[in-house]
Amino acid sequence: MTAGETLEIVPVPAFRDNYIWTLRAPGERSVVVVDPGDAAPVLEHLAQEGLELSAILATHHHPDHVGGIAELVAQRKIPVYGPRGEPIATVTHPVAGGDEVSLPQLGVTFQVLDIPGHTRAHVAYYGAGALFCGDTLFACGCGRLFEGTAEQMYESLEKLRSLPDDTRVYCGHEYTLANIGFARAVEPRNDALARREQEARRLREAGRPTLPSTLGEEKQTNPFLRCAEPAVIESANKYLGARIADPVRVFSAIRDWKNRF
Ligand SMILES: [Zn+2]
Repeated sequence: MTAGETLEIVPVPAFRDNYIWTLRAPGERSVVVVDPGDAAPVLEHLAQEGLELSAILATHHHPDHVGGIAELVAQRKIPVYGPRGEPIATVTHPVAGGDEVSLPQLGVTFQVLDIPGHTRAHVAYYGAGALFCGDTLFACGCGRLFEGTAEQMYESLEKLRSLPDDTRVYCGHEYTLANIGFARAVEPRNDALARREQEARRLREAGRPTLPSTLGEEKQTNPFLRCAEPAVIESANKYLGARIADPVRVFSAIRDWKNRF
Protein backbone atom coordinates (compact mmCIF):
# COMPACT_ATOMS: atom_id res chain seq x y z
CA MET A 1 0.00 0.00 0.00
CA THR A 2 1.37 3.43 -0.90
CA ALA A 3 1.10 6.37 1.46
CA GLY A 4 -1.66 7.86 -0.63
CA GLU A 5 -3.96 4.88 -0.31
CA THR A 6 -4.30 5.75 3.34
CA LEU A 7 -5.40 9.30 2.48
CA GLU A 8 -8.75 10.28 3.91
CA ILE A 9 -10.74 11.96 1.16
CA VAL A 10 -14.05 13.44 2.26
CA PRO A 11 -16.48 15.50 0.16
CA VAL A 12 -17.89 18.76 1.46
CA PRO A 13 -21.09 19.43 -0.51
CA ALA A 14 -21.54 22.97 -1.84
CA PHE A 15 -24.24 24.78 -3.83
CA ARG A 16 -26.69 22.42 -5.48
CA ASP A 17 -24.45 19.54 -6.54
CA ASN A 18 -20.76 20.53 -6.19
CA TYR A 19 -18.28 18.53 -4.15
CA ILE A 20 -15.30 20.25 -2.53
CA TRP A 21 -12.86 17.40 -1.85
CA THR A 22 -10.89 17.50 1.41
CA LEU A 23 -7.70 15.44 1.73
CA ARG A 24 -5.68 14.55 4.78
CA ALA A 25 -3.35 11.91 6.14
CA PRO A 26 -5.01 9.83 8.89
CA GLY A 27 -4.61 11.38 12.32
CA GLU A 28 -3.27 14.64 10.86
CA ARG A 29 -5.01 17.97 11.34
CA SER A 30 -3.59 19.49 8.17
CA VAL A 31 -6.06 19.39 5.28
CA VAL A 32 -5.86 20.22 1.56
CA VAL A 33 -9.01 21.14 -0.38
CA VAL A 34 -9.76 20.83 -4.08
CA ASP A 35 -11.99 23.37 -5.89
CA PRO A 36 -13.51 25.35 -3.00
CA GLY A 37 -16.24 27.22 -4.85
CA ASP A 38 -17.69 28.39 -1.55
CA ALA A 39 -15.77 29.20 1.66
CA ALA A 40 -18.61 28.77 4.17
CA PRO A 41 -19.03 24.97 4.04
CA VAL A 42 -15.22 24.53 4.10
CA LEU A 43 -14.85 26.77 7.18
CA GLU A 44 -17.66 24.88 8.86
CA HIS A 45 -15.97 21.55 8.09
CA LEU A 46 -12.60 22.80 9.44
CA ALA A 47 -14.23 23.99 12.66
CA GLN A 48 -16.28 20.83 13.14
CA GLU A 49 -13.35 18.47 12.60
CA GLY A 50 -10.67 20.66 14.25
CA LEU A 51 -8.62 20.84 11.03
CA GLU A 52 -6.18 23.37 9.61
CA LEU A 53 -6.24 24.26 5.94
CA SER A 54 -2.72 23.99 4.46
CA ALA A 55 -3.11 24.18 0.67
CA ILE A 56 -5.70 24.59 -2.09
CA LEU A 57 -5.80 22.93 -5.52
CA ALA A 58 -7.95 24.39 -8.31
CA THR A 59 -8.79 22.56 -11.55
CA HIS A 60 -10.27 25.44 -13.58
CA HIS A 61 -11.50 29.01 -13.30
CA HIS A 62 -15.28 28.59 -12.99
CA PRO A 63 -16.65 30.41 -9.92
CA ASP A 64 -18.30 27.30 -8.49
CA HIS A 65 -14.75 25.84 -8.21
CA VAL A 66 -12.66 28.85 -7.15
CA GLY A 67 -15.18 31.37 -5.72
CA GLY A 68 -14.35 30.55 -2.08
CA ILE A 69 -10.55 30.81 -2.35
CA ALA A 70 -10.19 34.55 -1.60
CA GLU A 71 -12.06 34.21 1.70
CA LEU A 72 -10.15 31.04 2.67
CA VAL A 73 -6.72 32.62 2.12
CA ALA A 74 -7.61 35.98 3.69
CA GLN A 75 -6.63 34.69 7.16
CA ARG A 76 -4.03 32.11 6.05
CA LYS A 77 -0.78 32.24 4.15
CA ILE A 78 -1.12 29.00 2.18
CA PRO A 79 -0.24 27.98 -1.37
CA VAL A 80 -2.97 27.94 -4.01
CA TYR A 81 -2.20 25.76 -7.04
CA GLY A 82 -4.16 26.29 -10.24
CA PRO A 83 -3.87 26.25 -14.04
CA ARG A 84 -1.30 28.68 -15.41
CA GLY A 85 -3.40 29.33 -18.50
CA GLU A 86 -6.56 30.56 -16.74
CA PRO A 87 -7.51 33.84 -15.07
CA ILE A 88 -7.61 32.90 -11.37
CA ALA A 89 -6.37 35.91 -9.35
CA THR A 90 -5.98 33.89 -6.14
CA VAL A 91 -3.52 31.32 -7.56
CA THR A 92 -0.04 31.64 -6.00
CA HIS A 93 1.52 28.58 -7.68
CA PRO A 94 0.49 28.36 -11.36
CA VAL A 95 0.87 24.85 -12.79
CA ALA A 96 0.54 23.07 -16.12
CA GLY A 97 0.86 19.55 -17.52
CA GLY A 98 4.13 17.88 -16.54
CA ASP A 99 4.45 19.80 -13.27
CA GLU A 100 4.35 18.09 -9.90
CA VAL A 101 2.68 19.34 -6.74
CA SER A 102 4.39 17.99 -3.66
CA LEU A 103 2.26 17.99 -0.52
CA PRO A 104 4.40 16.62 2.34
CA GLN A 105 1.54 17.11 4.81
CA LEU A 106 -0.29 14.37 2.88
CA GLY A 107 2.78 12.35 1.95
CA VAL A 108 1.72 12.67 -1.69
CA THR A 109 3.08 14.20 -4.87
CA PHE A 110 0.45 14.90 -7.51
CA GLN A 111 1.17 14.97 -11.22
CA VAL A 112 -0.50 17.79 -13.12
CA LEU A 113 -2.24 16.78 -16.36
CA ASP A 114 -3.44 19.24 -19.00
CA ILE A 115 -7.03 18.34 -19.89
CA PRO A 116 -8.47 21.25 -21.91
CA GLY A 117 -11.97 21.19 -23.41
CA HIS A 118 -14.40 22.26 -20.68
CA THR A 119 -12.19 25.31 -20.21
CA ARG A 120 -9.10 26.43 -22.10
CA ALA A 121 -6.43 25.25 -19.62
CA HIS A 122 -8.30 22.91 -17.26
CA VAL A 123 -5.90 20.69 -15.26
CA ALA A 124 -6.25 17.44 -13.30
CA TYR A 125 -4.24 16.32 -10.28
CA TYR A 126 -3.26 12.66 -10.20
CA GLY A 127 -1.48 10.88 -7.37
CA ALA A 128 -1.85 8.16 -4.73
CA GLY A 129 -4.26 6.33 -7.04
CA ALA A 130 -6.66 9.28 -6.99
CA LEU A 131 -7.66 11.60 -9.83
CA PHE A 132 -9.15 15.05 -9.24
CA CYS A 133 -10.55 15.98 -12.62
CA GLY A 134 -12.93 18.89 -11.94
CA ASP A 135 -15.51 19.24 -14.71
CA THR A 136 -13.77 17.17 -17.40
CA LEU A 137 -14.56 13.53 -16.61
CA PHE A 138 -17.77 12.93 -14.65
CA ALA A 139 -19.16 9.66 -13.39
CA CYS A 140 -20.78 8.28 -16.54
CA GLY A 141 -20.39 11.62 -18.33
CA CYS A 142 -18.11 14.51 -19.25
CA GLY A 143 -18.11 18.29 -18.99
CA ARG A 144 -19.61 20.65 -21.52
CA LEU A 145 -17.36 22.27 -24.11
CA PHE A 146 -17.30 25.90 -23.01
CA GLU A 147 -13.86 26.99 -24.23
CA GLY A 148 -12.41 24.04 -26.10
CA THR A 149 -13.11 21.87 -29.12
CA ALA A 150 -14.51 18.35 -29.28
CA GLU A 151 -11.09 17.17 -30.42
CA GLN A 152 -9.38 18.70 -27.37
CA MET A 153 -11.92 17.18 -25.00
CA TYR A 154 -11.63 13.80 -26.68
CA GLU A 155 -7.82 13.90 -26.31
CA SER A 156 -8.15 14.97 -22.67
CA LEU A 157 -10.52 12.09 -21.92
CA GLU A 158 -8.19 9.65 -23.71
CA LYS A 159 -5.34 10.91 -21.51
CA LEU A 160 -7.41 10.17 -18.40
CA ARG A 161 -8.55 6.86 -19.86
CA SER A 162 -4.91 5.73 -20.07
CA LEU A 163 -4.52 5.83 -16.27
CA PRO A 164 -4.80 2.52 -14.35
CA ASP A 165 -8.26 0.93 -14.00
CA ASP A 166 -8.20 1.13 -10.21
CA THR A 167 -7.71 4.93 -10.28
CA ARG A 168 -10.37 6.52 -8.07
CA VAL A 169 -12.16 9.32 -9.90
CA TYR A 170 -13.11 12.39 -7.84
CA CYS A 171 -15.06 14.79 -10.02
CA GLY A 172 -16.61 18.13 -9.23
CA HIS A 173 -20.34 17.40 -9.29
CA GLU A 174 -22.93 14.82 -8.30
CA TYR A 175 -24.36 14.32 -11.79
CA THR A 176 -24.21 10.54 -11.85
CA LEU A 177 -27.89 9.51 -12.03
CA ALA A 178 -28.74 12.03 -14.75
CA ASN A 179 -25.62 10.98 -16.66
CA ILE A 180 -26.59 7.32 -16.41
CA GLY A 181 -30.02 8.22 -17.84
CA PHE A 182 -28.34 9.56 -20.96
CA ALA A 183 -25.78 6.72 -21.10
CA ARG A 184 -28.66 4.20 -21.15
CA ALA A 185 -30.17 5.98 -24.14
CA VAL A 186 -26.82 5.58 -25.93
CA GLU A 187 -26.23 1.98 -24.83
CA PRO A 188 -29.56 0.38 -23.84
CA ARG A 189 -28.06 -3.10 -23.83
CA ASN A 190 -25.02 -2.41 -21.62
CA ASP A 191 -25.54 -4.68 -18.56
CA ALA A 192 -22.75 -3.04 -16.55
CA LEU A 193 -24.57 0.26 -17.01
CA ALA A 194 -27.88 -1.21 -15.80
CA ARG A 195 -26.12 -2.51 -12.67
CA ARG A 196 -24.45 0.84 -12.16
CA GLU A 197 -27.79 2.60 -12.27
CA GLN A 198 -29.17 0.36 -9.51
CA GLU A 199 -26.12 0.97 -7.32
CA ALA A 200 -26.16 4.76 -7.90
CA ARG A 201 -29.88 4.89 -7.11
CA ARG A 202 -29.31 2.95 -3.88
CA LEU A 203 -26.52 5.34 -2.81
CA ARG A 204 -28.54 8.48 -3.59
CA GLU A 205 -31.61 7.13 -1.78
CA ALA A 206 -29.35 6.61 1.25
CA GLY A 207 -28.18 10.23 0.91
CA ARG A 208 -24.64 9.18 -0.03
CA PRO A 209 -22.35 10.39 -2.84
CA THR A 210 -21.91 8.13 -5.85
CA LEU A 211 -18.23 9.17 -5.93
CA PRO A 212 -15.49 8.26 -6.23
CA SER A 213 -15.95 5.88 -9.12
CA THR A 214 -13.07 3.97 -10.64
CA LEU A 215 -11.64 4.44 -14.08
CA GLY A 216 -12.31 0.75 -14.78
CA GLU A 217 -16.00 1.37 -14.07
CA GLU A 218 -15.98 4.44 -16.33
CA LYS A 219 -14.43 2.45 -19.17
CA GLN A 220 -17.29 -0.07 -18.92
CA THR A 221 -20.15 2.42 -18.66
CA ASN A 222 -19.22 6.00 -19.62
CA PRO A 223 -20.24 6.57 -23.27
CA PHE A 224 -17.69 9.40 -23.65
CA LEU A 225 -14.89 6.90 -22.98
CA ARG A 226 -16.47 4.35 -25.33
CA CYS A 227 -16.50 6.19 -28.66
CA ALA A 228 -14.88 3.22 -30.46
CA GLU A 229 -17.52 0.73 -29.21
CA PRO A 230 -19.84 -0.52 -31.97
CA ALA A 231 -22.98 0.15 -29.88
CA VAL A 232 -21.93 3.76 -29.23
CA ILE A 233 -20.99 4.33 -32.89
CA GLU A 234 -24.36 2.90 -33.93
CA SER A 235 -26.27 5.25 -31.62
CA ALA A 236 -24.20 8.26 -32.74
CA ASN A 237 -25.05 7.37 -36.35
CA LYS A 238 -28.75 7.16 -35.54
CA TYR A 239 -28.60 10.54 -33.82
CA LEU A 240 -26.77 12.17 -36.74
CA GLY A 241 -28.59 10.33 -39.49
CA ALA A 242 -25.17 9.72 -41.07
CA ARG A 243 -22.51 7.00 -41.18
CA ILE A 244 -19.46 7.97 -39.15
CA ALA A 245 -16.95 5.92 -37.19
CA ASP A 246 -14.11 8.31 -36.40
CA PRO A 247 -14.01 8.42 -32.56
CA VAL A 248 -13.68 12.22 -32.38
CA ARG A 249 -16.79 12.62 -34.56
CA VAL A 250 -18.62 10.01 -32.50
CA PHE A 251 -17.62 11.90 -29.35
CA SER A 252 -18.77 15.19 -30.84
CA ALA A 253 -22.13 13.68 -31.85
CA ILE A 254 -22.94 12.22 -28.44
CA ARG A 255 -21.76 15.39 -26.66
CA ASP A 256 -24.14 17.38 -28.87
CA TRP A 257 -26.93 14.84 -28.25
CA LYS A 258 -26.44 15.07 -24.48
CA ASN A 259 -26.75 18.88 -24.62
CA ARG A 260 -30.25 18.40 -26.05
CA PHE A 261 -31.20 15.34 -24.00
ZN1 LIG B 1 -16.74 24.15 -14.76
